[in-house]
Amino acid sequence: MKACLGWILLALPLPLMAQVTAIRAGAVVDPRTGTSKANQVILVKDKKIQAVGAGIAIPPDATVIDLSHEWLSPGLMDAHTHLTLAETGGEGPFESFYLAESTAFRAMRGLHNGEILVRAGFTTIRDVGNSAEYAMTDVGRAIEQGWFIGPTVIDAGKIIAPWGGQSRNIPAGQGNFWKYEYIDADGPEEVRKAVRINIYQGAKVIKLVGDNNPYHFSLEEIRAAVDEAHRAGIPVAIHVIFGGEEADNAIEAGVDSLEHGFYLTDAQLKRMVAKNVTLVSTDFPRFVLDVTGTSSGMLPPPEVLAPLIIDRLRRAHQAGVHLVFGSDVPLDIPGKTRAEVMLGYLDVWLAAGISPPEILRAMTSDAAKLLRVDKERGTITEGLAADLIATPDDPTKDIMTLRKVDFVMKNGRIVTDTHSR
Ligand SMILES: [Zn+2]
Repeated sequence: MKACLGWILLALPLPLMAQVTAIRAGAVVDPRTGTSKANQVILVKDKKIQAVGAGIAIPPDATVIDLSHEWLSPGLMDAHTHLTLAETGGEGPFESFYLAESTAFRAMRGLHNGEILVRAGFTTIRDVGNSAEYAMTDVGRAIEQGWFIGPTVIDAGKIIAPWGGQSRNIPAGQGNFWKYEYIDADGPEEVRKAVRINIYQGAKVIKLVGDNNPYHFSLEEIRAAVDEAHRAGIPVAIHVIFGGEEADNAIEAGVDSLEHGFYLTDAQLKRMVAKNVTLVSTDFPRFVLDVTGTSSGMLPPPEVLAPLIIDRLRRAHQAGVHLVFGSDVPLDIPGKTRAEVMLGYLDVWLAAGISPPEILRAMTSDAAKLLRVDKERGTITEGLAADLIATPDDPTKDIMTLRKVDFVMKNGRIVTDTHSR
């Protein structure tokens, strides 16, 4: 009977005979519990984890990868990226970054940054707008087709905002050119329509801007977005930097995540816990703020904002707010890749008193829940996508080892391997 099966397998055309890859892991980390199991074998087949455990038999024809001195963790996630965006740092007008760039050019930047990120270990990203005419939606599709190496992309399409997008004081004669990047939506019905337009174009998350002008979204407007998005099984993320009534409205309306939230009060953080609103805290380290400047006077200077961000993250953590890692790196910093800049945020999380296992969880399994991909990715579990990273040390003891990721597998395909074999 066995021989018969062997002949049948040999007779199958090659693509149907998926190759098994076996990884010998020094340890496999489970971010949900912050624990790890030593001397494990991970079998990968058809882009997925087929089995994981100790003493698992390795099929004789499997390709074996020896990572027996390494810690294997699930691929990292960032819930707040802008891969097609390269803001001009300093005090230039906010619009200057997109006025002279085509959607095609933006898509190519997205692919370029996507490859950098996935090779550094970020295997899933949530890209929250500012990608011209849906450039990032197409970037996600092209990666999914296998045309390019990149992370899984959860894309927001265009940012939905009250009239004016994130522009201010544009002369009336210029017209609302910001519609290249934003959808103006005023009143619950326009908000509903904007949500539908984005979903129609392929968005997997809805991004609202809650406080960019003296006026802001009302409770009813945010409720309309949440209602419409949730009906389609899609989460809502809202940009709120300054707190105030804008933050109250967002929390009360039950958005899935509040982004930035640098000025949230303790009472608002408490309310977020009660309403199960995640904070994607985008904790800019000082070296990023020094380049971004005050965003044309919208933000206080770096020496004021940097400690404020650490304090807010500490307060959110102490209040028990559900935290998910998001970097919001908006520009290129000379001498560093985007991934290196993103991993620079780990310093802020440590400074806020958050433990390595909690940080890893915010970058993997908890992020997967917010992104609604936890049934597909985010842990090293049988049946989930083979998105794996290896580090020389245990990330639950030393989170900085994430800066030394030396092996990355994305959907079962090796995209980084610095080991000589
Ligand atoms: Zn952002």
